[in-house]
Amino acid sequence: MAKYVYSFGTTGTDGDATMRNLLGGKGANLAEMANMKLPVPAGFTITTECCVEFLAEGGKFPAGLDKEIATALKKTEKAMGMKYGAADDPLLLSSRSGARQSMPGMMETVLNVGLCAKTIPGLIKKSGSERFVYDAYRRLITMYSDVVMEKAEDIEPAEGQGIRVQLEKLMNSVKKAKGYKSDTDLTAADLKTLCEQYKVKVKEVLGREFPDDAMEQLNGAISAVFKSWNGKRAVSYRRIEGLEDSWGTAVNVQSMVYGNMGDTSATGVAFSRNPATGENKFYGEWLINAQGEDVVAGIRTPSPLNEETKNEQNKHLDSLQKEWPQLYKELAGIRGDLEKHYTDMQDIEFTIQDGKLYMLQCRSGKRTGTAALNMAMDMLEEGLIDEKTAVMRVEPAQLDELLHPIIDPEAEKSVAEFVRGLPAGPGGACGEIVFTSSDAVAAQQAGTVCILVREETNPEDVEGMRAAEGILTARGGMTSHAALVARGWGKCCIVGAGDLEIDAAAGTMSIDGKAFKAGDVITLNGTKGFVYEGALKMMDATENPLFKKFMTMADKYRTMGVRTNADTPEDAKIARDFGAEGIGLFRTEHMFYGVGAEEPLFILRKMIHAGDDDERNAAIDELAPFVKRDIKDTLAAMDGLPVTVRLLDPPLHEFVPQSEEMLGELAKALKISVDEVKKRGADLHEVNPMMGHRGVRLGITYAHLTEMQIRAILEAASELKKEGKHPQPELMVPVTCTVKELDFVKPIFDRVKAQVAKASGVEMACLYGTMIEIPRAALCAARMAKTAEFFSFGTNDLTQMGFGFSRDDIGGFLNDYLSKGILDADPFQTIDQEGIGQLIEMSVQRGRAARPDLKVGICGEQGGDPASVTFCFKLGLNYVSCSPYRIPIARLAAAQAALAAE
Ligand code: PEP
Ligand code: MG
Repeated sequence: MAKYVYSFGTTGTDGDATMRNLLGGKGANLAEMANMKLPVPAGFTITTECCVEFLAEGGKFPAGLDKEIATALKKTEKAMGMKYGAADDPLLLSSRSGARQSMPGMMETVLNVGLCAKTIPGLIKKSGSERFVYDAYRRLITMYSDVVMEKAEDIEPAEGQGIRVQLEKLMNSVKKAKGYKSDTDLTAADLKTLCEQYKVKVKEVLGREFPDDAMEQLNGAISAVFKSWNGKRAVSYRRIEGLEDSWGTAVNVQSMVYGNMGDTSATGVAFSRNPATGENKFYGEWLINAQGEDVVAGIRTPSPLNEETKNEQNKHLDSLQKEWPQLYKELAGIRGDLEKHYTDMQDIEFTIQDGKLYMLQCRSGKRTGTAALNMAMDMLEEGLIDEKTAVMRVEPAQLDELLHPIIDPEAEKSVAEFVRGLPAGPGGACGEIVFTSSDAVAAQQAGTVCILVREETNPEDVEGMRAAEGILTARGGMTSHAALVARGWGKCCIVGAGDLEIDAAAGTMSIDGKAFKAGDVITLNGTKGFVYEGALKMMDATENPLFKKFMTMADKYRTMGVRTNADTPEDAKIARDFGAEGIGLFRTEHMFYGVGAEEPLFILRKMIHAGDDDERNAAIDELAPFVKRDIKDTLAAMDGLPVTVRLLDPPLHEFVPQSEEMLGELAKALKISVDEVKKRGADLHEVNPMMGHRGVRLGITYAHLTEMQIRAILEAASELKKEGKHPQPELMVPVTCTVKELDFVKPIFDRVKAQVAKASGVEMACLYGTMIEIPRAALCAARMAKTAEFFSFGTNDLTQMGFGFSRDDIGGFLNDYLSKGILDADPFQTIDQEGIGQLIEMSVQRGRAARPDLKVGICGEQGGDPASVTFCFKLGLNYVSCSPYRIPIARLAAAQAALAAE
């Protein structure tokens, strides 16, 4: 039988940091800290496997668990020299979640477990404070009734009717009646009466007594934490972060130590380096006479840990360094030990009980992309980590944030902020104010960029935080949930802008008599914590030398190529600056879109509406110089690097004019009536154009069009070569489903190539290849590779045709599919490895079996998605191709894939 329970503490520790899948991150690190002989309150971890069994059995403890808990509890009691449930000097416990990957604030916690009629007098005696004990009891009743008796029982109260809110109302009415300002004004007698009222309320609302038995409390708290794995916000968080539902959470049952036992006690959260900037300074927040939840919930403004990291908002408060220098020294020593041991930035929770320091948690800290980069490079310099580790330390998707806009410093100089908060997530964001998470989601769906403004941080806002461009809250500290989550996503975020008065119900916020309403535009500087009225100018933050150095280092370990999808010389240039090693997809049709495209588009329209072959071919010939110029400019911009030019792909009806003016001009040019132009346009209409007359099919019907394009490519390249350049064109045939299509185009290619070589006197190398974007082509890869010298996976169409999901219409049901767990992710964003991935894998194998030197790449949108890049690496692709701004991400993902495979 599997072992379910692992102890940690001075009487023996069973686990270590390597066991995070089984013990969760928190449990594994508690064990590791205990092994390092750090002052960890003793306890035990119940495994994630146990959680999976518990949930599979409908919420029942698996056989044997009770016994293992009893044994582990004995060990804990021995380590602490106290007994759980005892009348004299009782041990109290906490029950906390801990998945293999941190999910901050997304699951449940119950503290002070074990307080009941029998143990209360003993704790009063020990602490010497009745007030402290009834405050702890009040917290237990609140958390327990909310988490164990309501949420874990799947009770969904109406908005504002949850037990927690109802209990808080009781407390507020006492405070109001007595004229108290803060919770700390409540006396022991107040709290004692309040606890009695709480219990009556719990019975009234939930129909059950609050349990007065220590063991019943413990079992309830363990079960509820297990169940919180399937709680709403945990599920949405996993969806967004792409974490697996099947992992389950571990439960950590740990001896309680109290930061709220009076003025010689405190609690705090710290980072061994600054998680927003990466600066190598011990950084954190603490509160005297408080429990951990007080720091994270952001109800009181926490004090700074030391003098050097004080900021605008907390400079008037005393640091731990100043208040208790000896304890600060001990903590700073542990900071150093932990960094050396883990060789990474640690996020630490500590408590000081009556002058003694305890470590409650450590884990690798979440950080912004900027901080990740800075820390990796600093730690490399310090000799803490090697180059390979440094490359692995930045998540590819985090680079996105480094490439994200910041407020133009010039624009910022000329305006004054209307409020300041804490700089919780860097970069700039500008958008319309929304006051609720659901409004943020709705705004995003409507294509409106918004800033989510909230009174305080609340993990239930996770969807809205995701949808918003930036987040602003009136309360909360740098370690509050909103800050952690936003930082993890690299989102611009300001918390604790305490001067703001927010009335979410009325949809307004105000400061010094100035009012803002939903829909008003504001701009955030998340790096400084400043908020401005209106829209400020933004700019790119790319020219960062450290970023360039890091990318060069990553490239040392990368073996797979990274190209770009670019259709203009401008895009090609941007992509080159980002490190593109060529163009993997040049969509020729883009020369007919946008400003400056009027002339070639008009000629294309003449071709489309031509009455016969002669007219059509004449239009095609007229178009030739434009096509050649367009290709030549881009080949020049990518000089020395390969450029895959794709033959015209979209169905022609996409170019049919709509405006009367344009119809009139076309009629004049073709010397026919407007009605005839309309009729010829209408004739091109197809019921299912995505599967209609497009791609190579056009090139077969209109062979002259194919010939013109091939000639344009080869002539452009020959001219450049004569000019001393080094063009490397590759010709790509789209939307093929049989080798016969390739065999139809190939002789045209060979003939034109010979003609151009003869006429120009320049022999141009040019690979001949195809896209693989139809499942049949994938299945017939061996045959396709007989003619094709390269494959490029068009995973947009391959996904469309493989799933039978229209790439243009999936928005109508995608959210349903994601929220109901039918799809784990949008297959148009990340390759569906299970299904579409098989088609790719099979094509690579079959293609290379037929032609061993077959070059293989991908040019669908997924080419810039880190998970897809890793997958492509595993399949042995030669390169991925993605949009210019995603190139650094793809480069890093490819380097990491290579390192992981070493
Ligand atoms: C594809 O289908 O993946 C592709 C790159 O081509 P397009 O998006 O132009 O159809
Ligand atoms: Mg396609």
